[in-house]
Amino acid sequence: MADQLIRATAAEGGIRAVGVITTRLTEEARLRHKLSYVATAALGRTMAAGLLMASNMKRTGSRVNVRVKGDGSLGGILVDAGLDGTVRGYVANPSVELPPNSKGKLDVGGAVGSGYLYVVRDIGYGYPYSSTVELVSGEIGDDVAHYLVSSEQTPSAIVLGVFVGAGGVTAAGGLLVQVLPKAARDEALVATLESRVAALAGFTPLLQAGKTLTEIFNDLLGDMGLVIFPESQMLRFHCGCSFDRVLGALKILGEAELQDMIIKDDGAEATCDFCGRVYQASSDQLAELIVDLQTESPIKRKV
Ligand SMILES: [Zn+2]
Repeated sequence: MADQLIRATAAEGGIRAVGVITTRLTEEARLRHKLSYVATAALGRTMAAGLLMASNMKRTGSRVNVRVKGDGSLGGILVDAGLDGTVRGYVANPSVELPPNSKGKLDVGGAVGSGYLYVVRDIGYGYPYSSTVELVSGEIGDDVAHYLVSSEQTPSAIVLGVFVGAGGVTAAGGLLVQVLPKAARDEALVATLESRVAALAGFTPLLQAGKTLTEIFNDLLGDMGLVIFPESQMLRFHCGCSFDRVLGALKILGEAELQDMIIKDDGAEATCDFCGRVYQASSDQLAELIVDLQTESPIKRKV
């Protein structure tokens, strides 16, 4: 099934639900960054969470940055997800592998360790809203749920799952169910929802068994006035980096540093952290940057 996002409501609009299938984009991230099993699960869960969090933003161009900074061997995760369905991300130490945890599962919590979850919401006006919470378990799902409840004061349940085997990612995705303010005081509703989401621990196996998001929503909320929006949104791994941006970044290093690169390395090589693409700038291109710097007026250079 193609990567996609589906929205639904239930309880006469009191419940908002979003589901994502991210199997292909997680596999793309695995291949691009040569991720280990545990790194694939960690980044895959964080990418699904980012897409789910971006989905409730309103303004075109809105994006969410999710940074997981733990003291574990994985060394940090960064994801950038947009309302437009694009996502990119990386982990600091992609080759780290750990033995399975006590439940026999990939030990994402152990690889992440303890630390903080930073979320930055940018609606495109230039004043991003940022918030930080302590990691609960490092398993990502618990941590994001804790963030949503404590920072955004919305009772939320989130399930994230990535199944990766020897041949790659066979199932990945997530579900976010939120009780909106108008229904948040309905304790029975919140409790029902929590127990049902808890029963969805087997979310990835359901996806792997070929269940669609529509079927999973039906199982979860079918008797609570479920309305599934007919349009689904396509999701994909996408990075907006370009050679021009790389040149711009090199230029900031200044004349002396650029001259040094020409003499010592006969050019420069830069790798985009987000997508792993490698850019090469020749000595001639670096020399052009130096000319640019020399000919720019001092006033412009200050800006
Ligand atoms: Zn890139």
